[in-house]
Amino acid sequence: VYFIMTGDTWIYPPFLIHITNEERMKALVAVKRVVDYNVKVRVKADNTGVDLTNVKMSVNPFDEIAVEEAVRLQEAGVVSEIVVVSIGPKEAQEQIRGAMALGADRGILVETTDTVRPLQVAKILKAIAQAEAADIILLGKQAIDDDNNQTGQMLAALLDVGQATFASKVKVDGGSVNVTREIDGGLQTVQLSLPAVITTDLRLNEPRYAKLPNIMKAKKKPLEEKKPEDYGVSTASNIQIVKVTPPAERKAGVKVKSVDELVDKLRNEAKVI
Ligand code: AMP
Repeated sequence: VYFIMTGDTWIYPPFLIHITNEERMKALVAVKRVVDYNVKVRVKADNTGVDLTNVKMSVNPFDEIAVEEAVRLQEAGVVSEIVVVSIGPKEAQEQIRGAMALGADRGILVETTDTVRPLQVAKILKAIAQAEAADIILLGKQAIDDDNNQTGQMLAALLDVGQATFASKVKVDGGSVNVTREIDGGLQTVQLSLPAVITTDLRLNEPRYAKLPNIMKAKKKPLEEKKPEDYGVSTASNIQIVKVTPPAERKAGVKVKSVDELVDKLRNEAKVI
């Protein structure tokens, strides 16, 4: 009988194999720093973009759901480590720390002040997913600032792994995962072998609030700082934003005194009936 020494504990190999099989799974979660969903966005006076001065920034809501799902998988004993990645300005550390306060173990900030597009983000996430040997890669279905809904799909294609977008239920079963997806007019359940990319929909879970002791603990968790170049990705853009304009102001409504007047207006003014 052979024993293995790890730290100051002797482990009997069959037991060691059992532990590693059970606890090997690693989750990678992508979190984007975006304008808080409660903020009424203003367009800059010169129409070049959205005014971000003194605007509250938060984790993209779908990414918060992705973090919560990873934490639940960890609590269920399926996942042993959760790594959170954000690509953005230095301040995106706040969103990484926020995810750590919810339960993520480690963070990676890929720092850039450039506006990064889905393909650039997907290329960076691909390099990280491979370096980390991540088994479950969780993203939001879309970032609420640019509404692209592209990154998860591109990442799965680059990694050449399965993808389940718009997830409303995730169940890991050994080396595969069953994901229920919200599709037009119903639900679809797909089975993917791991590693796989999953993007979250609103009904997947309700994220918890961070507790104060966990916020304090999160400050001590490891956060690596990288640059896009470290992953061989250029953030130069081949897209030029021509113009950003706010939606047209809504005109004041008209009060009508009777149904007859309403019908008359719909027929003769709006000409819709
Ligand atoms: P999008 O394709 O831009 O709508 O974004 C979909 C998802 O990709 C988001 O919900 C995030 O999980 C991830 N993502 C997009 N951009 C970033 C970023 N800069 N940093 C980290 N994750 C991102």
